[in-house]
Amino acid sequence: MKCRVCRGAAVIDLPQHNANFCAEHFDRFCLEQVAKAIKKFKMFGPNDRLLVAVSGGKDSLAVWDILGRLGYAADGLYVGLGIGEYSDASGEATRAFATSRGLTLHEVDLRSEYGYNVPEGSRAAKRAPCSACGLSKRHIFDSVAREHDYDALITGHNLDDEAAVLFGNVLRWQTEYLGRQMPVLPAGNGFPRKVKPLVRLGEREMAAYCVLSGIEYQIDECPMAAGNKHLGYKEALNDIESKSPGAKFAFYFEYLAKAAEHFQATTESDRDSLEPCVNCGSPTPSGTCAFCRLVERATAPQPITMSPTRRRRSESGQPQ
Ligand code: SF4
Ligand SMILES: [Zn+2]
Ligand SMILES: [Zn+2]
Repeated sequence: MKCRVCRGAAVIDLPQHNANFCAEHFDRFCLEQVAKAIKKFKMFGPNDRLLVAVSGGKDSLAVWDILGRLGYAADGLYVGLGIGEYSDASGEATRAFATSRGLTLHEVDLRSEYGYNVPEGSRAAKRAPCSACGLSKRHIFDSVAREHDYDALITGHNLDDEAAVLFGNVLRWQTEYLGRQMPVLPAGNGFPRKVKPLVRLGEREMAAYCVLSGIEYQIDECPMAAGNKHLGYKEALNDIESKSPGAKFAFYFEYLAKAAEHFQATTESDRDSLEPCVNCGSPTPSGTCAFCRLVERATAPQPITMSPTRRRRSESGQPQ
């Protein structure tokens, strides 16, 4: 296996690009793909203040690293989700990365700032863990970006993520979500601009980038992800990709080129009709926003459950 550029020994094959690369040219390839996405979708300029939402996983650390190498100054934001050892390791990886490069990292801990963590919040609010988690993260990302006046919020969504979300939305023709599936969502009505510079690179490339660059990331999957539909869509697409290399790229980028604009009107009109939450001021369709409702439920006193024995004793007046 030889590098397409220098004919030296290749360390990775990319069937979707019909190419193999050595470490040096793979590194250059990754930087070029990100630079291309930033330019093509007009994501941000050299003087914009950027905030990267960092989870400690390969994608967010890689995008933070690549932005720095391309000459962009970007700060990080880490949200402590309180998912046991997984969150402990994620926080450590993020802090170690920021410290080693002298980067500014904002941290928001769900429990200390809002009184709950993801497992508790999801139980109390009777929401799937990823739904409670996603809602909490989105709210905090938006609030910190607004508060500190960042021009754009960067996320580490890669091609596999975007293709899987598109696949799920197309399966059910969820047109209100399809309109939002762009690599750039403009700022407006209380939301910061949101951008995804990794859309041209897949999960495998990002893991290889981190390994070859010596970036130590959280390797373990979140324990709450089991049963997540998104993972099933990724597997289905990987199956298709193995038989038809390039299918994922074409699925997502041909959607952007040929279909995305048809769904944008729905998203824009949804956004225009938002008003400030009566409690926190974040944009919401009306009244109290979904995040404030989640916090209220997650922090409400829970009923005490008694074992049958304790209940019998209590009912008969016996000492407990
Ligand atoms: S898998 Fe779900 S619960 Fe875990 S970090 Fe991701 S969104 Fe949150
Ligand atoms: Zn080479
Ligand atoms: Zn609110």
